[in-house]
Amino acid sequence: MAWWNLPGLTTLFDIVCPPRCVFCGADTPGPAAAGGTMACESCAAAISSDAARCIACGETRSPADCRCRGRCDDWDGIAVLASYGDGVREPVLRAKRPTGEPVAAALAGLLVAKHRETFTGWRVDTVVPVPMHWRRRLVRGTSAADQLAGGIARRLRLPHRHLLRRRRATPMQNELPFDDRRHNVRGAFVASRRAAGRRVLLVDDVATTGATLAECRRALVEAGASAVYAAVVARADRGGVEGRRP
Ligand SMILES: [Zn+2]
Ligand SMILES: [Zn+2]
Repeated sequence: MAWWNLPGLTTLFDIVCPPRCVFCGADTPGPAAAGGTMACESCAAAISSDAARCIACGETRSPADCRCRGRCDDWDGIAVLASYGDGVREPVLRAKRPTGEPVAAALAGLLVAKHRETFTGWRVDTVVPVPMHWRRRLVRGTSAADQLAGGIARRLRLPHRHLLRRRRATPMQNELPFDDRRHNVRGAFVASRRAAGRRVLLVDDVATTGATLAECRRALVEAGASAVYAAVVARADRGGVEGRRP
């Protein structure tokens, strides 16, 4: 065991420099911080709280009586941390900034804490972020999806691979009416042949219509991926007051 992992030293370090919740800045985060999420219990509860959601299509219905009957054409399954709104809106916006990497790491921790069993059941073997066009990434200085994918991959001990590339820059989905979004991203992504045979966990920060995830999935399946599941921090439900994503 390395000296910095000795339990006594860790405790001493925590007393001298107590861990802070990345969301509210409160000292001494509770057990959630011990699990590596760096969120105090009240923030973790506020962000993770969500209505029952169908794990197949992601609609806010319990899987048992969802009209999709457990099958969705857009992906093989979708894990959502929260509905886009109250608790998760600000953390999602912070995770998009270069200084927001600890926030993205904490959100990844909460997603895994909530859905670890689902991810295990799906037998995913590779974590892939929804890519940003390189020009936008250069301007932003970070990609929330990439940070989230890294955090999820570390916690699940799976490889984090950039198997998708944006062929062209597309107008931001949030600037378009819902009905135009599928057309907007059509053919926008290309997947590496290294996707062949993989069971992919595709990661993004926010999904509204799901058009981007569905298009990424199409590219991955074309490249030979054997399954493509999705994980998102926030689902902005179609038609809701929070329907516009950041
Ligand atoms: Zn907090
Ligand atoms: Zn459903």
